[in-house]
Amino acid sequence: MEASIMDGSKRRCGAVSGLSTVKNPVSLARLVMEKSPHSYLAFSGADEFARQQGVEVENNEYFITPDNVGMLKLAKEANTILFDYRIPTVGYEKCARVESLVKMNGLPISIYAPETVGCVVVDSEGRCAAATSTGGLMNKMSGRIGDSPLIGAGTYACEVCGVSCTGEGEAIIRSTLAREVAAVMEYKGLGLQEAVDFVIKHRLDEGFAGLIAVSNKGEVAYGFNCNGMFRGCATEDGFMEVEIWE
Ligand code: ASP
Repeated sequence: MEASIMDGSKRRCGAVSGLSTVKNPVSLARLVMEKSPHSYLAFSGADEFARQQGVEVENNEYFITPDNVGMLKLAKEANTILFDYRIPTVGYEKCARVESLVKMNGLPISIYAPETVGCVVVDSEGRCAAATSTGGLMNKMSGRIGDSPLIGAGTYACEVCGVSCTGEGEAIIRSTLAREVAAVMEYKGLGLQEAVDFVIKHRLDEGFAGLIAVSNKGEVAYGFNCNGMFRGCATEDGFMEVEIWE
């Protein structure tokens, strides 16, 4: 697992990767930001820091679910890396919970629960923050680090906005997607939704990805170049909505 967090108003950030027992990786990323002299800890050093800080940990078995074991087997047999939002062309019939899957054109849109969770917030004084947490991609190579813990790629926050991304990490890294949203707002003067639409259209190359964003004016925006993205929005006065498709 890997995660990152950024406090835009103070431009502080923390990130972790290579975790296998920490229950809430974003909490550890926050401790890196607040309690260490560094921005990013990984693998054994991150584990050691987690133990020192006394964060909640679970045996590694806790994270291994029957559905994911099944999906990993299928991915290995097909010698492929699976993305949660891609319509699988082979093998999905064997998935344990195939009946309960959301379907489009008869095919499941997602064959396992999305692995990545992102959150962006803005407070009443326009201070933005962002965080992203993930298990990465199914059947990834050992040692692979994705976009989620990389500040500027999967997560970014500054004085103007907060952004969290999901999707093919390699494509998100190539396009420094989260930072690009802030950059086009700052340097091209675009509004939040315009900036999101611009980076999804012009900065992502062949990769599939999406993002959620808030601005210092309290605007909320999202964008993706795939079929759907699980997302929700809540305000302090009780408004709530969840969406999957465009
Ligand atoms: N972006 C994540 C990664 O590449 C995966 C995801 O968003 O589902 O590690």
